Amino acid sequence: MNSISPLRLVIAILLIVAGAVLATQISALLLKVVIVTAFSVLALVIIALSDREPQPPDLSVIERERQKIFDHGKAEAYQQIIDPISDPILIIRNAKVATANPAAKNFLGNHIIGEDVRIAIRHPAAADRLANPNAKHTGKPILLVGVGSPGQRWELRIHTLTDGLKLVQLSDQSSHYAAERMRTDFVANASHELRTPLAAVKGFIETLENPEAGKDDETRARFLKIMYQEADRMQRLVEDLMSLSRIEAEKHQLPSEPVNIANLIADVKDVFLSGRNKEEGDFIISAPKGLPVIQGDYAQLSQLLHNLVTNAFKYGRPGTPVTIAVEPNRDDSMLRLSVSDKGEGIATEHLHRLTERFYRVDKGRSKSIGGTGLGLAIVKHITERHGGRMEITSKKGVGTTVSIFLPVIK
Ligand code: ADP
Repeated sequence: MNSISPLRLVIAILLIVAGAVLATQISALLLKVVIVTAFSVLALVIIALSDREPQPPDLSVIERERQKIFDHGKAEAYQQIIDPISDPILIIRNAKVATANPAAKNFLGNHIIGEDVRIAIRHPAAADRLANPNAKHTGKPILLVGVGSPGQRWELRIHTLTDGLKLVQLSDQSSHYAAERMRTDFVANASHELRTPLAAVKGFIETLENPEAGKDDETRARFLKIMYQEADRMQRLVEDLMSLSRIEAEKHQLPSEPVNIANLIADVKDVFLSGRNKEEGDFIISAPKGLPVIQGDYAQLSQLLHNLVTNAFKYGRPGTPVTIAVEPNRDDSMLRLSVSDKGEGIATEHLHRLTERFYRVDKGRSKSIGGTGLGLAIVKHITERHGGRMEITSKKGVGTTVSIFLPVIK
């Protein structure tokens, strides 16, 4: 109950006294009662009004509300900055999400605004840092595994802003880790590919060291032949590995030599005729005269064509010819160089993986015919270095065509 002001109390008492004095002047009893009652009620009303007198405002409540609006304004002020950023970003106050950009709402859900940040980002390592009000944040990344879809890797960085706000930034590192994984897988695969022939060569050397086994000329010759083949396999693998790393090292330098593709086809065909037991009839060449010149690296482009023709002979049906064709596209901006075979073809589910290093549809078959598993990876890298595009089409039981689109010099 609020206090009664003294002035109102005096007025109320005076009213009651006035009512009583007036009543004494009147003879009619009923009127006396009415007058006393009316004056008393009036006095009570005046006293009661004291209760409704406006109270001085509670400053702490106002201050809290003002701070809330002010703080909200502060978090909102970051909104315009964080909205266009593609990484998920949250602004945190007292371990609660004050605001977030659309990328964060997309990733963590629209409900995160106002939510405890430990619930919004369910990750123990992050929760520990985010919930600690005294934690010093240097912006050093915390790796989050298990947030988002399986296999995704996120890095979380916390930055301390002014006015008790924290900025939490998530960045998707999945592709970086995938590249890292590919590198380590590549080293493991390459070591494995080299270890197998090396072990075979060592095994045969040990056998031949045995005076009994080494005595028999036929066995000796057979073992030496296998050793030679295995050494050859290792050499091809090492050469392909070196090619790959050279092409990768140069991948940002656009090649600048003018290259005549018809000459290139003729040169590669000659290599097969002179050193690979192939004959004129093994080739069908389609290269119209007056083709535009392309900008390229002659040595790399002949390696590309050599790898494609080798595959076409390896996987084509024995005795069937290989077609090498070149034609400009509709607006003469690109040349399409294609190599086709009449072979068993490749099932569709393998097509998108063929340019991965060491990916083979039939591992045993590839190895038995001297494949390194790197031929198409090399083709892909050379194509990319030339600013071109690669396309593989294949039909089971019919054959395969690999096409390379290379930009023409304007
Ligand atoms: P490899 O040394 O094993 O031939 P590549 O990288 O050249 O390696 O090719 C990868 C795989 O793609 C091969 O192992 C083979 O399974 C498949 N392949 C490539 N070219 C052809 C083709 N012309 N016809 C059928 N399969 C092919």
